[in-house]
Amino acid sequence: MLRPFTLHRPDTPEEACALLARLGEDAAVYAGGTELLLLMKLGLLRPRHLVDVKRIRPFDGITDGTHLAIGATVTHRTVERSALVRARCPLVASVARHVANVRVRNVGTVGGNLAFADPHSDLATLFLTLDASVELVSPRGRRELSLADFVRGPWETAREPDELLASVRLVPWPPGTAAAYVKFGVHERPTLGVSVALRLDGADGDGERRGGGARVADARVAIGCVNPRPARVPAAEARLTGVAVTELEDVTGAAAEAASADTDPADDLYGSADYKREMVAVFVRRALRIAAARARGAEPAARFPHAVVA
Ligand SMILES: Cc1cc2nc3c(=O)[nH]c(=O)nc-3n(C[C@H](O)[C@H](O)[C@H](O)COP(=O)(O)OP(=O)(O)OC[C@H]3O[C@@H](n4cnc5c(N)ncnc54)[C@H](O)[C@@H]3O)c2cc1C
Repeated sequence: MLRPFTLHRPDTPEEACALLARLGEDAAVYAGGTELLLLMKLGLLRPRHLVDVKRIRPFDGITDGTHLAIGATVTHRTVERSALVRARCPLVASVARHVANVRVRNVGTVGGNLAFADPHSDLATLFLTLDASVELVSPRGRRELSLADFVRGPWETAREPDELLASVRLVPWPPGTAAAYVKFGVHERPTLGVSVALRLDGADGDGERRGGGARVADARVAIGCVNPRPARVPAAEARLTGVAVTELEDVTGAAAEAASADTDPADDLYGSADYKREMVAVFVRRALRIAAARARGAEPAARFPHAVVA
């Protein structure tokens, strides 16, 4: 049962931050409430004040420029449907379609997902391959942090108590990038997420592949859910960089093994550390094969039990 609380509904970031500064530990930021209200119902959190950030206008937009900025209170459903996101970061829209269930997607926000820092987040994993940074506001002003520095560990971020997450900024991949996101899970939340992006040189400005001539100029591989926090895997990326598109299939096994060796999972309800390492090898290989096919201009009909391919 929920204990009584006072709901504050500020209209500006300044008002919201002032409330957080004044109310201190008695207050919690409230967006869609999909995580927060669950914790409150379980009695794990007992804030006496909720500061609702959904009326703060600058937080609810998606804007384009050198980067794509997604406001903290934008819901997964809005990301999925946004023409701008589909045009600039199509994989982000595709992944949003597979977050949780429709009830959570309708109210759950991008900011809530990142600020909660549940290790089982698809967004944090995917965003690492888009050089994401977050914008934080507080009574002291604004600051920007890379997503890798913002998420410190399970349910832990670099956010100060009086700070609000305002937006996440993504650097869209250039045309001619072949990418894939694969998630696996038998529970409601994913057990594993793998994001892969291969920027090809020798691809023309319209993103058309040049077939045999193209090489991987830059590789991004991020693993989520198995480690205490999502992380890029440089050892796997190094195996892929410089490889010709025609030879990608030959290195997927080695890159997947490198990714597995680079993970640091713990035994938990989602599986043993050994099981997770094995799953990382399997799913990185699968994600790379899908990206490699896309690099050749093909769309593989990849279907794996309990897995989603975006
Ligand atoms: C059943 C279920 C399945 C799920 N499956 C998936 C999945 O498949 N993939 C995936 O990625 N995620 C999944 N999630 C997580 C889901 O994406 C998040 O619950 C949702 O995005 C959180 O957003 P919210 O607005 O509801 O956050 P809230 O519950 O309102 O807040 C979450 C936390 O973030 C803080 N917070 C919120 N907004 C801000 C802000 N602007 N600034 C600072 N702090 C803030 C709150 O104080 C709270 O601590 C699942 C969740 C559920 C309940």
